[in-house]
Amino acid sequence: MPLADYHRRAAVAASQVIAGFDEQLFEAALESTGIGLALGRDAANTREGRALADLTVRLLARLYPTLALVSGPGAEALCTELSTLARAVNPKITITDHAAVGIAIGLDAPAFERTFHAGSDAWTALLSSRAPQPVGDSAIPFGAGAAACFAAAAIFRSVLMGEPDPVPDDLTVSCLDGIDPIAPKVPENGWALPGSTVLVGCGAVGQAAVWALGRSPLRGDLDLVDHESVELSNIQRYVLTTRADENAGKAELTAATPTVGLTFHSHPEEWASFTAAHGYRWETALVAVDSAAARRAVQASLPRWIANAWTQPGDLGVSTHAFLTGACLSCLYLPTGQTPSEDAVVASALGVDQLVREVRTLLHSRAPMPPDVLDAIATGLDVPRDALARFEGRPIRELYVEGVCGGSVIQLGQAGRPRQDVHVPLAHQSALAGVLLAARLVRRAAGIEPGGTQITGFDILRSPAAHPTRPALKDPRGTCVCQDSDYLHVYRVKWPTEPAS
Ligand SMILES: [Zn+2]
Repeated sequence: MPLADYHRRAAVAASQVIAGFDEQLFEAALESTGIGLALGRDAANTREGRALADLTVRLLARLYPTLALVSGPGAEALCTELSTLARAVNPKITITDHAAVGIAIGLDAPAFERTFHAGSDAWTALLSSRAPQPVGDSAIPFGAGAAACFAAAAIFRSVLMGEPDPVPDDLTVSCLDGIDPIAPKVPENGWALPGSTVLVGCGAVGQAAVWALGRSPLRGDLDLVDHESVELSNIQRYVLTTRADENAGKAELTAATPTVGLTFHSHPEEWASFTAAHGYRWETALVAVDSAAARRAVQASLPRWIANAWTQPGDLGVSTHAFLTGACLSCLYLPTGQTPSEDAVVASALGVDQLVREVRTLLHSRAPMPPDVLDAIATGLDVPRDALARFEGRPIRELYVEGVCGGSVIQLGQAGRPRQDVHVPLAHQSALAGVLLAARLVRRAAGIEPGGTQITGFDILRSPAAHPTRPALKDPRGTCVCQDSDYLHVYRVKWPTEPAS
């Protein structure tokens, strides 16, 4: 079974969460294991069921080369639709009708020898390895979206990490979070976004957020900001992309997502030029960027309210920020201690700490790497000199990005490599962060806002904690923008009705 041509990125992601990662074993496990998705009548006939099935296919088809789509009575048309989607995501995929292990959606869905039953009830995700789970027919896609991610994580842990029982107890996770999942019956529509809402970042997390927001009963305008284009290696975890989307603009592609009541506006530019052109008066900012500096830049523009999502090896989450009363986004991303410079990071990743000055010059000049530097890197990385042959005459950055971050040169699974700061998340990890980010926005539009700063985190390799949400206070050093009198003054003038406590 051929793996997807963007598979290499998934191997890098997997090597960062699997202890003692062995690439040959990983590929052999992928190639020898078909993953099933079984659909019952209620999967096809409910909005949540269809959303759950859609995201599940978007996650599985990116990684597994064989997908078995099994239809119960009444789900045949959905099955056909999803096989078209799976082939668009990975044209090399093999679609079959039999697998030993898989995910079942719907109370009457066929089962596999080993089945993870996914379901949802509006905001709540359900997953069980024992009994079929119901799917609701609400207009709320968050429980369904999160259930798809937890189910994909269970498959990953079972098939690729060899865990005998990744879901020992039935899992119930509310995307309302911090609020009893059963108590409030939140009405399902009539929600309007604040006048100015912006999503910063249309990568893996931002796309999953828009996957969910497009399905939400929301009205209003959402501006999407991202200056980059889709690279082949991104397709490994960008849930809105198909194989044909390589080189598409991230913001434009994301803005083409079908929506119930939102209007998307794409802005293929960086945050700084976007705000220079469109102003700083953003009531609400969703932050789906991948660096601390980019997060601090959004916070410094002083939106009234921010929701932020992140992924780290094995860990993901979302935070919501009250600038006056709790930790602002910058509080969570203030530099701690000395951050290594880029040349030190690159030199270290290439195993040539002693050549940091040469590396700095080469990064700056973009000149071809001299042979003696390539020799030193081959020695430092402990790879044959031939493995670097195709980087001769090319800039050192290309070797770093393709060879180390992209995993095309280094042996995956070596201790400490790739470094954690070139973390590549698994698709279901980024997708869950995005779904949670979207849920935070809709929760607020629905008038449910706990106040203060709240951080919610999940370790995707373990069962969710009973209380994944905690408050966060301002950074104690007192050096953050949210403790600076000039910033506080500007914020209060900009948002005069914001309560101070
Ligand atoms: Zn702060």
